Amino acid sequence: MKRNLSLMIKPSSSKCNLNCKYCFYHSIAEARDIEDYGFLKEDTLKVIIEKASDYCNGGSCVIGFQGGEPLLIGLNFYKKLIEFVKDFGNNTNFSFSLQTNGTLITDEWAEFFSKNNFLIGLSLDGNKDIHNLNRVNYKNEETFNKVMRGIKLLQKYNVEFNILTVVTSALCKKIESTYNFFKKNNFKYLQFIPCLEPLENTSLTSRKFSITKEEYKNFLMKLFDLWYEDAINNNYVSIRMFDNILGLFFNQDYEACDMKGVCSCQHIIESDGSVYPCDFYTYETYKIGNILTDSFNIMHRNTTTINFLNSSINKNSKCNSCKYYSICRNGCRRHRENQVNNLNYFCEAYYDFYSYSIDRFNDVAFKIKTRKIIL
Ligand code: SF4
Ligand code: SF4
Ligand code: SF4
Repeated sequence: MKRNLSLMIKPSSSKCNLNCKYCFYHSIAEARDIEDYGFLKEDTLKVIIEKASDYCNGGSCVIGFQGGEPLLIGLNFYKKLIEFVKDFGNNTNFSFSLQTNGTLITDEWAEFFSKNNFLIGLSLDGNKDIHNLNRVNYKNEETFNKVMRGIKLLQKYNVEFNILTVVTSALCKKIESTYNFFKKNNFKYLQFIPCLEPLENTSLTSRKFSITKEEYKNFLMKLFDLWYEDAINNNYVSIRMFDNILGLFFNQDYEACDMKGVCSCQHIIESDGSVYPCDFYTYETYKIGNILTDSFNIMHRNTTTINFLNSSINKNSKCNSCKYYSICRNGCRRHRENQVNNLNYFCEAYYDFYSYSIDRFNDVAFKIKTRKIIL
């Protein structure tokens, strides 16, 4: 039987050449017994490819690389990956993506990504001022110029990439200039993720970088206005959250895990081979197995996996009677942590945003169907 699988590998564990002030993976690593599992070994990579091939048996396997900074392990690791896929991949269709801070990209990396069809996610928070506020190295030096140099190399080699932006309070005050900056640079595939408070911070009032509901609501509305204006003027900018909502009007379900309303097992593989269900939960207590000793089938049947998935099933009575439930679904489980009755921290922001935008989503969908908007 053919099956599909998606994996997220952390080849450099939590190691990173940057020290972004809001880094959620640093907070997770610091809270674990083992902060850094070292670099992933070639033997482990070989086992991953073999087991993924066996499991998929001719289906599709999407492998993402993430960190920490996944380029720190060096290019030879990825060359080995391509070799292993050729040698042990059977007829499984492998595809690759990689999330990077972009500062270590060279001609050699960009050429490799292009040749092997890697989809690159680039972390960039906006223009120089916004980006440099939080995205700094260990000497507290700014990184904007290095990231832009990396992006230019990706463009030079025609590598497909999208931009990942962390939404902070500072960014919420500069939505229009940030959006315009991306457009001016022809960055038309964007993803915005609200800055997270570490899971360990159970206080609902003391928030350092994460945004308030009010800020997120205003951010979504303003961003939507800018996006809508461009969409109806046939200048479509892809914003992952909005693309997902638009897809509902075409009978497509969400592809973004954080919008589906229930968790799915994303197989996050740390460099020692240990596997976790989600990037937000790479703590020992959520470990569902180790790729070196367990099969995917065994990990899927593991009680920790089943409990993790089941606990994301929404039981909030407010949601059950909410008119936007089919769109919102109580959002990502991670945003329900430490909240009363498991209700999403951004509930009010979502509710007001959907009231504000849904008719215009419908309008954009209608114009796409009638070819007044060409994507
Ligand atoms: S680049 Fe990513 S992993 Fe590295 S410090 Fe910044 S947020 Fe953390
Ligand atoms: S916590 Fe969010 S991103 Fe993680 S598996 Fe659950 S829904 Fe998906
Ligand atoms: S808007 Fe609030 S009540 Fe409605 S589904 Fe979303 S989280 Fe639940």
